[in-house]
Parts: sequence; C-alpha cells; structure tokens
Amino acid sequence: MSTTTLNAAQGQHTQSMFEAVLARLDAAAKIMNLSEEVSTVLKNPAKQVKVSLPVMMDNGSLKIFNGYRTIHSTHLGPSKGGIRYAMDVNADEVMALAAWMSFKCAVVNLPYGGAKGGIKLDPRAHSVGELERISRAYAVAMKDVFGVNKDIPAPDMGTSGREMAWILDEFNKITATDSPGVITGKPVAVGGSLGREAATGRGVMINTLCALKKIGLKPENVTAVVQGFGNVGSHAARLLAEKGVKIVGIGDHSASYYNEKGIDVAAAIDFASKHNRNLKGFTGATEIKNEELLISKCDVLVPAALQNVITLENAPKIQAKLIVEGANGPTMPEADTILNEKKIICVPDILANSGGVTVSYFEWVQNKASYYWSEEEVNQKHDIKMEEAFENVWANSTEYKVSMRLGAYITALKKLEQGVRLKGHY
Ligand code: NAD
Repeated sequence: MSTTTLNAAQGQHTQSMFEAVLARLDAAAKIMNLSEEVSTVLKNPAKQVKVSLPVMMDNGSLKIFNGYRTIHSTHLGPSKGGIRYAMDVNADEVMALAAWMSFKCAVVNLPYGGAKGGIKLDPRAHSVGELERISRAYAVAMKDVFGVNKDIPAPDMGTSGREMAWILDEFNKITATDSPGVITGKPVAVGGSLGREAATGRGVMINTLCALKKIGLKPENVTAVVQGFGNVGSHAARLLAEKGVKIVGIGDHSASYYNEKGIDVAAAIDFASKHNRNLKGFTGATEIKNEELLISKCDVLVPAALQNVITLENAPKIQAKLIVEGANGPTMPEADTILNEKKIICVPDILANSGGVTVSYFEWVQNKASYYWSEEEVNQKHDIKMEEAFENVWANSTEYKVSMRLGAYITALKKLEQGVRLKGHY
C-alpha cells in the first residue's frame, strides 16, 4: 500500500511518510490496546484518486500536472483536508497527510473524517493565469470526489483563499449548484469565515500558551523562533508577539534571521508582503544560515514550514524547552526519541495546527446555515475548542505516561475507534 524506497547501493530501507504515520499509530494502538480490527481499518485509506491535468501554459505549450486526493476515513463524518501545491507532492505524502487529517479532526472532536489533496507543481514558477487554469482543471477532475457532505477541501501549503475561490466557482459551474460549503478557507466575500485566514496560527498561539502554563512559564518571559513565514508561521509569530512572547528568530525558504533583542514581527510581515512573500533582505535582524534557525537559542520553537525538518542530526542541538508543531510532520520519528530524552515538550502537529480545520468547520457550519458570525465569536469558539483539545491530550499523555504526541494519537484513536465500531463493516 505505501511507497517504500530501497537504497539499492546500501540495501537500506527508508521509511516513507505514510509508514511514519503507521509507526506512530502502532505505538499508540499498543499502549491503549486498540483492537487489531480497528487498527487495520485505519491503516488502509478508504479511497485514493490520481489524475492527470492537461493545462495550456501562457507560452502556448501544453503541460500535464499530476493531481492527487486521498480520503483516509469517513467514520466520523465527511472527509476534510487541504490541497497542497508543491514539487514534492506524491501519492505517499498525500496518503500520510490524509491520515493525519483523520487524527486531527478526531483530536479536536470535529464531525469529520480525513482527506488530503495536492498537485505536483511549484506555485512560484507559474503565472496567476496558469495557476487558475490548473486549479479549475483539478476541480473538474475531482467533481465526483468533492461534495459538501462528502469531501470538503481547504488551503494548505502553496494554496490560499484565491485557489479555493477558483475551485469553488468551477465546482459550482459544473455541478450546476451554489454550494459554498463544498470548500473552506475561501475569501470572506465568497462565503469564507472571518478569522479563518489566521486560524492555524491562532491555534499554534493558544497551544503554546496552554503548554507554557503547564510548565509554569509566562509568555512575557519567553522567547520564540518560528520557521516558515507563510500563512501559519507569520500569523503564529504575530499572535505570539501580541501575547508578549519575544520572537527572536524567523525564517522562510529564502533566508533566516535572528535578533536576541526581539524582531518586529509586524515589520517583517510588511517586508515579506512587499517582496513576493520572501524574507530575504529583511533588515530588522541578523541573517543566519537556514540550518541554524532551528537550533538557535529560544524557549519555544515553532516549525511552521514543511515536514521532516527536525532530524537525528539537529534534534540533539535544539535548545528550546517547548516545540509547537505548526507544520504537518516537522519532526522525524527517530528525532522524537531524542526530544523525549531531552525532556523537550512537543505539542504535536495533529493538535498544534488544528486551529485551521477548526475554523474551517465553523465556516462550513456558517455556509450551511447561511448565517455568518463575527470574528470575535469565531475566535472565542476556536479558543474554547483548542483549549479543550489541549487538556484532553494532556490528560491522556499523563494517564498513559507518554509524550504529548502519543497522547494526541490515543485521544484521536479513542474517538475513531467508536466511529469504526459503531458504523461497522460488511
Ligand atoms: P505557506 O505556503 O503559506 O508557507 C510556507 C512557508 O514555509 C513559506 O514561508 C516558505 O517560504 C517556507 N518554507 C518553504 N520551504 C522552506 C525551507 N526549506 N526552509 C524554511 N522555510 C521554508 O504554507 P502554510 O499554509 O503556512 O503551511 C505551512 C505548514 O503548515 C505545512 O506543513 C502545512 O501542511 C501546515 N498546515 C497549514 C494549515 C493552513 O491552514 N494553512 C493548516 C494546518 C497545517
């Protein structure tokens, strides 16, 4: 089922991303005595779709793009999960991310299963017109997969409200409906929710505050480093700074910066917005090497860029007391062991970055009711859900004497187990 790679020269087996998910599922399942039957169901994604999208480029040439969508589970409700545009998108990655969505929705207690989609492309290498045609082609190809009560996508790495609006428009045209709830993370003008854009970063902030409280630290006395300055990273940095946390390090694919006196996050956001969303050239801090960012001095580390950045090599050098995973899968499984040995608390991705899907759920509810809430109401409901989820995970990790990651998987599996059992099988 999963793609595994074999380094032929060395005969070494490299763990695929989906296998990494299964390894964590197995570890949690063993501790909580999950039945073999339920575990087997959850190890096999419900549906996998791969499409080829022929799209005309601006220069008149025709290019084929590979698009994917995996529905991991629908035991707790219609499947939910983002669409990613990146060069490393592949079937294995999408499958792993879809499984994480099942666990994430279950951790936050949302009435959703898990899914994920993606197109293999470099969004920075395409014009707006090309991106629009590719997004519309993807919507057409996924017409029988998506559905307001079936499978509901949202933005992820490389996509934003803009792409969601194109996909919504195309989907509505070809299905002759007006169904705003078929996709979330839309711009507010076309049925999006206030508070959605910043929601994942907001969830990171709330989880950080919850964890700091548990370890007896006040936000105004701590420093933080944030890797990734896109949707999740920039909002997380901004909101943490608003709570008094001193942001000492930031970075993106273009450059990394450190300033022990603190970085003016608003100035960095303004700089990136004027420089094609890149931090390169920012003058409010000293430029450091990208690989130095994660190991630089700080209390809280927020990896909010991409997966597999905390590795066997850099984990021993991490100085933070607390890691809050804004990105999906930033910590490699073998690095987890080192973090645990170093007693670094790690708020895992399926909890830490669940603010986005939580407000996506609120968006879907508002779309279904055609009644829209104030930003204050959205944020308030979000914060309550996030704090509840954090406490549940904390309670499970305390009860089973395991890391917060395993505590989060146990929390999710307890819920998923009920869905799998109650819905039964053939
Ligand atoms: P984004 O495209 O808005 O931003 C990604 C950021 O990562 C950019 O600043 C980019 O420059 C940076 N980056 C890319 N490669 C890098 C590298 N090699 N080193 C350092 N920085 C690098 O994406 P996003 O929506 O902010 O998503 C970031 C992560 O959060 C992803 O793992 C995504 O799956 C996860 N996530 C996003 C959401 C959401 O609502 N957007 C929700 C949950 C999880």
